[in-house]
Amino acid sequence: MPPAPLSRSGKSRRTTDSPITYFIKKALETPGLVSFAAGLVDEGSLPVDEVRAAAAEILSDPRAGQTALQYGSTHGMPELRRQVLDLVCGLDGVKPSDLNLTPDDVCITTGSQQLLYLLGEVMFDPGDIVISEAPSYFVYHSLLQSHGAKVRTVPMDEHGMDVDALDALLDRLRRSGDLPRVKVIYTVDYFQNPTGLTLSLERRKRLVEIAKRYSTAHRILILEDAAYRELKFSGPDLPSIKSFDPANEFVVYTSTFSKPCAPGLKTGYAILPPDVLAPILHLKGSHDFGSTNLSQHLLSRMMASGAYQAHAEKLRAVYRNKRDLMLIALESEFRDFPAARWTVPDGGFYVWFTLDGVDTGPNGPLVPAALEAGVLYVPGEFGHVPDANGHMPKNECRLCYGVATEPEITEGIRRLRKACAAVAAG
Ligand code: PMP
Repeated sequence: MPPAPLSRSGKSRRTTDSPITYFIKKALETPGLVSFAAGLVDEGSLPVDEVRAAAAEILSDPRAGQTALQYGSTHGMPELRRQVLDLVCGLDGVKPSDLNLTPDDVCITTGSQQLLYLLGEVMFDPGDIVISEAPSYFVYHSLLQSHGAKVRTVPMDEHGMDVDALDALLDRLRRSGDLPRVKVIYTVDYFQNPTGLTLSLERRKRLVEIAKRYSTAHRILILEDAAYRELKFSGPDLPSIKSFDPANEFVVYTSTFSKPCAPGLKTGYAILPPDVLAPILHLKGSHDFGSTNLSQHLLSRMMASGAYQAHAEKLRAVYRNKRDLMLIALESEFRDFPAARWTVPDGGFYVWFTLDGVDTGPNGPLVPAALEAGVLYVPGEFGHVPDANGHMPKNECRLCYGVATEPEITEGIRRLRKACAAVAAG
């Protein structure tokens, strides 16, 4: 007799496997494949020596070793929270007191992904609305689906989210009576995953002004996901959206040590209004009562010694070089494809490639042609949500130069061209 069926929660039934899992599996199964699909960091530059030195320092002192190996607190290591606040305020060119912030407004999380999840738990009931960029970080969209939240999107241009379109969307939602369901505006505002685009200075200010203006019955939060901010290698230094929220009311700023240091340490952080932080800490208390203490101690040591800052500096050169190689390869391989265009990121590790007339989707002809040629990308439609008629843009690809080696980048673009030429020839 088979066992009686499992009666799963609504949330579990809404939670599906990420579409990218198939692509990662495919990459692992196919020898010699160049993967521009996985959003992994450069492997050769991971800070093995720096982490070893920090670990040796901590563990050679029995008292420090015991503290690092003991449980920490739900809120996170106080010294690391202070260092995080100094880091972010330093990038913004302000003092914590200018923004009414203290280390108590910082929370250390198990990667920034945990913050995205916990904030969802705190904010969303099924049917609530989140406004995000089109396209956006597809893992966040899956997470929203599991919370039962609906996504409404705003288009982007080369200056990031179109804030006039955001204003117009909020106005339409007010007229239709749906404004009370709008809880969060989500933006990946530096070198966005997946497009590589960055929100302009003027739009950063406007975003806060718009969120305030529509926060009539309740506050609409801006979720500023600055995961790639420290990997900036060109373009202007832009202050965070958070820096335009001097009373610490509207903006939840989240970032991570995964990109500028090591994802294996799985440590992220957030700076957030006190009435958002308190329920997040209650929930986090029942999830894990604190992120890995040893990782926090390692990061704190590396920040105190300057090893962290030196490493992040080194990484910026690594990714600039990789970006340049990808752009050079695109220029030379797609010279005779007038329908091809791509973004030029100032940081991070994503290029957004568009080829009008070619269906790049998971069931379209380019995926098998690319696999045949030995290259893999993420279909752009994973980052979109269907419009009212069920349509999504079909001609885009996310190309990640994070983990591919330099020779692989050049070779991978050559293979992509071969695949595009085969599909275009019909
Ligand atoms: N936000 C964005 C935009 C990301 O791309 C990622 C990771 N790919 C995360 C958040 C989460 O990263 P982590 O949990 O490692 O900090």
